[in-house]
Amino acid sequence: MTLPRCNAVFTSLICAALFFTFLPRSTGFVPESGSIREDDILRTLPQIEVVQGSFKPNATLVATLVDFDIPSELAHSVARLVQPVFDVRGFRSGNAFTLEKDTDGNLRAFEYKISDDKILEVQRGAEAYEAKVSSLDLESRETTITSEITPAQNSLYAALAKEDRQAVQLAEKVASIFAWDVDFNTGLHPDDRIRIVVPALYHEGQFVKWGDIQAAELLNAGKTYRAFRYEGSYYDTKGNALKRALLASPLPFNPRITSGFSRRRMHPILGTSRPHLAVDYGAPTGTPVQAVAKGIVTFAGWDAGYGNLVQIKHSRGLTTGYAHLSRIAAGVRVGRAIDQGAGVGSVGQTGLATGPHLHFMMTKDGKAINPRTMQSEPPIPIDSKLLPLFLAHISPMEAKLGIAGYTALKK
Ligand SMILES: [Zn+2]
Repeated sequence: MTLPRCNAVFTSLICAALFFTFLPRSTGFVPESGSIREDDILRTLPQIEVVQGSFKPNATLVATLVDFDIPSELAHSVARLVQPVFDVRGFRSGNAFTLEKDTDGNLRAFEYKISDDKILEVQRGAEAYEAKVSSLDLESRETTITSEITPAQNSLYAALAKEDRQAVQLAEKVASIFAWDVDFNTGLHPDDRIRIVVPALYHEGQFVKWGDIQAAELLNAGKTYRAFRYEGSYYDTKGNALKRALLASPLPFNPRITSGFSRRRMHPILGTSRPHLAVDYGAPTGTPVQAVAKGIVTFAGWDAGYGNLVQIKHSRGLTTGYAHLSRIAAGVRVGRAIDQGAGVGSVGQTGLATGPHLHFMMTKDGKAINPRTMQSEPPIPIDSKLLPLFLAHISPMEAKLGIAGYTALKK
């Protein structure tokens, strides 16, 4: 038998005398000698009980509140109040909360930490309870991180992890910025270097998370790539958008290609020579698959040897197909619009497949084409009216990245 409050960290009575100590200073109230006694003030000040705890696995908000002696009726009305501002199914086991109660058991306030920088607050107002989600005040400290690819740290993750415990969280952001130009899975080499200018966000002296990368430089295989954030998008030094009409890969972190596009190859299961008009990416079951461009879903379901298949029609006569999926993402249905980078499903081995992989197909004007040849699309330049503003914006960032160029690295 476990105690119902086993997850409470501590329970404390805030001594009203503490309030009393500060009362004269904070209110300017000076008691006339003998006219008001300390006991009287203590009696009139509310006594508050503060309980801190964390959500138990599979516990609902109502059950958690009831666990802490909040009447079930009130717990239900709090849940109804919370629902419009925060989905009550979103409470995560282990996440911390704080409850404030009067000594007569009335709920004064409930606070729940939704994420690193968001909290849910329920408070008793003059008339009724109020619920809202608010963000923590975060202090931004600009940080420059430089990381080198070495034989021992030969991936973006490894190189950043060596630099700083938190920096590893930037790996995916960096990869997505340069995803149109660099294959991070196979394309990094010793002596490559990454430099990032990014705000680190702190709350009360504690690191909370990284903000958006403001500038980044990648020295890769003899080339220098630079990216600058402007109005929510990334551009190179000349103001060309890094984002292209097509993503370099339907999988994050450009994975291994296990079978390339070929007009003629031996089929691993059928044992006969058949063309392979697609690219196979080996990846573990469950790896998210993303739409390489925005479009309209034209097929989503089972198709014989393809297993679970999603097909999307894009502009300029292009279509893409994603086969052998273990599952198709919710909301991916025929006729629905889908954004570039949106999830179409997960890697699997449904249909005719020897192992988990994504069979990725592309057609142009009805003919199968090699997706790998479609990657180099001309960049889209920034609006010419914005260019002077953009150039002024990036000039201090360029200074932070340092003297440009691969040669500068060579000692
Ligand atoms: Zn294939």
